[in-house]
Amino acid sequence: MYILEKAPAKINLTLDVLYKRPDHYHEVEMIMTTVDLADRLEFFLLKEDRIEVVSENRFVPNDERNLAYRAAMLLKERFQIKIGVKIKIDKQIPVAAGLAGGSSDAAAALRGLNKLWKLGLSLSELATLGSEVGSDVSFCVYDSTALAKGRGENILELPAPPHCWVVLAKPVQGVSTQSVYQSLHLDNLDHPDTQGMIQAIKQSDYQGVCKRLKNVLETVTLPKNPEVELIKAQMKRFGADAVLMSGSGPTVFGLVQQESRADHIYNSLRGFCEEVYVVRLLGSHQTLD
Ligand code: ATP
Repeated sequence: MYILEKAPAKINLTLDVLYKRPDHYHEVEMIMTTVDLADRLEFFLLKEDRIEVVSENRFVPNDERNLAYRAAMLLKERFQIKIGVKIKIDKQIPVAAGLAGGSSDAAAALRGLNKLWKLGLSLSELATLGSEVGSDVSFCVYDSTALAKGRGENILELPAPPHCWVVLAKPVQGVSTQSVYQSLHLDNLDHPDTQGMIQAIKQSDYQGVCKRLKNVLETVTLPKNPEVELIKAQMKRFGADAVLMSGSGPTVFGLVQQESRADHIYNSLRGFCEEVYVVRLLGSHQTLD
């Protein structure tokens, strides 16, 4: 018996940091949604009591450092599962890119193993468990559009944003999420209009969404990574309606309504950025094709 789960990448439409908490985590407010660039995870039942992770991507660890492994381990321990699983990860999402690839794999593992091991848990129970694996895992469990608060684990689901195309470009130099948060100056931040973005999404107001894209972590990543700033400028020049860095970066995304314009941006960017993708914005759970 085996289960197949898609693990889509996420992008931030907004990312705000409100304050640093006594437990040293940052209190965040972010609106995230999903795009049609996804890892595919296959789960095979093992009679033996072990977890095996297989991936051909050399940047993806295959031991307990892998977030999908950790999600499986958490379920095994919490529900005293005495059988095992082999998890095959077909990696399509760029690693350490600000697209929550690892978190999405962990979320797919929670959904997949809930079925494989017949645990009967609800999405909200899986999301609560996910928050023990990583801050973005709860959002990824729902695989939709949501406002995430707290460390990122308090999820309020939203409708899908208006349909559009998303051009993703990943600069070569990676970014450490931890060091970006450590370098963030909380004074004088220009905060996103989170409530305005929620209204724009609810009203399916594409221009309203474009106008309100904002990520406070750009104040750290952009000055340190000139390539990110350059790609943002080029995307705008080639016709994107709005452009933003996702998460802590370095991936930049641009929104457009026509596929032909997305293709034009893709072709124009390919000259100086190796990793460029044109994908649809998803924003709500998709059935597997
Ligand atoms: P976020 O946006 O949540 O900060 P990210 O997209 O920047 O995440 P990931 O792709 O999740 O970053 O990778 C961050 C690190 O996590 C990698 O360096 C990798 O070693 C580790 N990792 C653990 N499990 C996975 C996984 N299943 N896929 C990718 N990376 C993983």
